[in-house]
Amino acid sequence: MRGTSLINKVRMTFYPMAGSISEQFENLLQTLQWIKVNKPSPNEVYEWLKAQFRLSHYFARDVYTVLLISSGLVKVSNGRCYLTGDGKVISATSSHITLLEVFEKSFAGVAAILEVLRTKSNLRGEILKATWFDLVKERFPKMKDWSKRTINNQCGHRINWLRAMGFITTDEGRYSLSKSGWEFVYQYPPEGIAIQRHEIKQQEKKVDELILGSFEPFDVSTEKSSSLRQVLVRNRAFRVIVSTQYNYYCAICGFRLQAPRGVYEAEAAHIIPKSKHGTDDPRNGICLCGTCHWIFDEGLLSITPKELSLVAANYLQDKAKDLSARRYLNLHGCKIKPVINQKYTPSDEALDWHNQNIFLG
Ligand SMILES: [Zn+2]
Repeated sequence: MRGTSLINKVRMTFYPMAGSISEQFENLLQTLQWIKVNKPSPNEVYEWLKAQFRLSHYFARDVYTVLLISSGLVKVSNGRCYLTGDGKVISATSSHITLLEVFEKSFAGVAAILEVLRTKSNLRGEILKATWFDLVKERFPKMKDWSKRTINNQCGHRINWLRAMGFITTDEGRYSLSKSGWEFVYQYPPEGIAIQRHEIKQQEKKVDELILGSFEPFDVSTEKSSSLRQVLVRNRAFRVIVSTQYNYYCAICGFRLQAPRGVYEAEAAHIIPKSKHGTDDPRNGICLCGTCHWIFDEGLLSITPKELSLVAANYLQDKAKDLSARRYLNLHGCKIKPVINQKYTPSDEALDWHNQNIFLG
């Protein structure tokens, strides 16, 4: 009996509005793994999809062309299918967000549909398409001159894809997020998906200009009027500037490691946290690994202004027998890693604030 229910479950997925996002995603992963190992011909892929997920020939072809080939996850060479770099990244990770990032890159604006439906549900098709295009032309300037017909067609493709993945439901020509679509957007705001390089570059200039003026520790005015997308882009720009200044080393413990997909573990952190309206001025930043970020935010370690030496909280002293605590206690008195260009040195005012308000003492 158990076997039967599993088959029924699998049989439902890859069909519009059936199965959850994670089921769809697992099926896609399974397919990519199979392609990676077997390097099949396109025909062998249809046959496999048909048998594995009980799809019709047409649907198997759709999954193959739309989800695998058009998205750039799979390429064909000498009549055989191979995974591309993106395909390898997807098969190596198992996160929905990575998948949607790849799809956003291939089908520009796919996440923008989620963005529209998050703010307005039960939308008529024409309104969804028009609102979607208003967002998309800002983000992808190359698409600005699309005709109405192209907009309709292109938006339609993206809606179909999102429906097939279970993000969207339709009811009498009106569109809304499905239950799992809602779960997804709560966890990963679509505004943060596939932020374009040119958007970050633009913000980098603005964030960098902050260091020309005197240091203003708090930023209460600008964010109020900014959209979530702008806030996220600005944060990304802050992270780029600060992490580069430390060459991706953790300023506290010196940890530096890059994952195969190119990302570093150590990342820029705010000295006065964003939750306390800390500014995005790079002088309010420091590059920290995950653990040191936690230690710093919990106030177990602080940094003295001017000397830039580490100070351990008495709490760590009390726990000196604990191996993990001792690791950070031993850093007491050490200097943090210096920035490449001195003008990005952490502000004394920000460090003072951390000493007074976060550090356990
Ligand atoms: Zn560290």
